Amino acid sequence: MPELIPITSVRFGREEESAVLEVLRSGMVAQGPRVAALEEAFAELCGVRHAIAVNNGTTSLVASLQALDLEEGDEVVTSPFTFVATLNAILEAGATAVFADVEETTFTLDPTRAAEAVTDRTRVVAPVHLYGQPADMTAIGALADQRGLAVLEDAAQAHGARHRGRPVGSFGIGSFSFYATKNITTGEGGIITTDDDALAEKLRIMRNQGMRARYEYVMAGHNYRMTDLQAALALPQLARYEQTVSTRRRHAEWLSAALADVPGLVVPSVRVGDDHVWHQYTVRIETGAHRDRAGVTEVLAERGVGFGVYYPRNVYDYPVYREHPRVHVDDSLLEVSARVAGEALSLPVHEHLTSSDLDRIASAVREALA
Ligand SMILES: *Cc1c(COP(=O)(O)O)cnc(C)c1O
Repeated sequence: MPELIPITSVRFGREEESAVLEVLRSGMVAQGPRVAALEEAFAELCGVRHAIAVNNGTTSLVASLQALDLEEGDEVVTSPFTFVATLNAILEAGATAVFADVEETTFTLDPTRAAEAVTDRTRVVAPVHLYGQPADMTAIGALADQRGLAVLEDAAQAHGARHRGRPVGSFGIGSFSFYATKNITTGEGGIITTDDDALAEKLRIMRNQGMRARYEYVMAGHNYRMTDLQAALALPQLARYEQTVSTRRRHAEWLSAALADVPGLVVPSVRVGDDHVWHQYTVRIETGAHRDRAGVTEVLAERGVGFGVYYPRNVYDYPVYREHPRVHVDDSLLEVSARVAGEALSLPVHEHLTSSDLDRIASAVREALA
């Protein structure tokens, strides 16, 4: 059995070790100067005025929605092809989730379908920049302007991605995750980006028990804070992030060239003018291919090639959500996402792959579909 090429690989270096050690030795491990430094650096990455660090990516979605003061019956239009946190956050904020279909080519919210899903109760449109690829923010931004909606970008997988040169997280409220498998990680962590001064201030207060100044409470808040240990871990990763992304991009381009002519397989496509950050490299195994997805993954497993199925079905397609009164679904309008959920297969693309790893990945896939 050949050695496994994992789907994700996290390796911290000397910089991370000494940055974390320094915080440990200071004895001050709660939110402090490292968090402030991370917020400043992350705001710069996104080209926005403010970044507010929180304890995880789900919290960053929940807090963003809470800051919009949604009322019962208010609707959030989002993608059904996403991680469950997107949906859970909408429900936790007390809103109603409404799903609109995705584009087959980019796996992201289809602006035309999103427009059709908007009602008088819609307050927010929440695209997901899935796998590291921006949604069509030009069209989604126009829709939001037209209908007076807030834009919440679930950019948990898309740190530093750009739509027509403009960073994700700068089109509305940006929500990012630093979970263990994301392109930048603090184990658990998240961050919110915005250009809105008042919203940023509100989020900072909400994060810290609703406290504006010491023991001056102006809202019923929470403890959503990140620690300096986590921020110290993120800072060196952020400093070399451009290099991380260019390595991932090189791997993605190599794989796409190597797999372009495999029958029954569709390599990922990148929207013209956009910068994908390759959190995942995701192909589709079409109906009628020599093997179906389950068959392909069997071959990959035998060949020691790691893979992931993100996500096996539409996010609402479980009894707990089917029966939820605040989840609105019309399956007949969500056929593209349901189909691609059955076809999507992610292959390793991380920065620690060697050229022989890449060869093994491509040969295993070619063999499975030959
Ligand atoms: C990871 C992720 C989240 C949630 O982030 P956590 O840090 O795990 O809470 C939200 N949305 C998407 C699309 C994600 O991939």
